[in-house]
Amino acid sequence: MMSIHFTRPEMALMTALRGLAFDTQVRGLPGTPDIVFPKERVAVFVHGCYWHRHFDCAIARTPQKNDYEWLRQFAKNARRDQKVVSRLRNDDWWVHVAWECEINRDPELVAQEIRQTLARRATYQKTA
Ligand SMILES: [Zn+2]
Repeated sequence: MMSIHFTRPEMALMTALRGLAFDTQVRGLPGTPDIVFPKERVAVFVHGCYWHRHFDCAIARTPQKNDYEWLRQFAKNARRDQKVVSRLRNDDWWVHVAWECEINRDPELVAQEIRQTLARRATYQKTA
């Protein structure tokens, strides 16, 4: 029995992507992408700014205590994220990272960017 739990930003983004055909939390792909458009081969990760170290973001500020342990863990997360993205790209997927703070600010704008990526991908597939 598989239980599916969505974070608040994931929910907000999925709501904003209404009308589009996508799968969620696809375990068959590297990194278990949060939102996947199989037809266009576009994988979306909804990244929490803190754990995934969103650059120059207020949510991502490094904690004061146990700095070394945190930095080690963050470096590990970043390495894993990079590995996941290259594995997907090698397998002809396009990867879109949607940040928590951007979704909190304006989920419709993030959804619009994803729709643009899908449109670009569709054009690319036609000409490829
Ligand atoms: Zn952020």
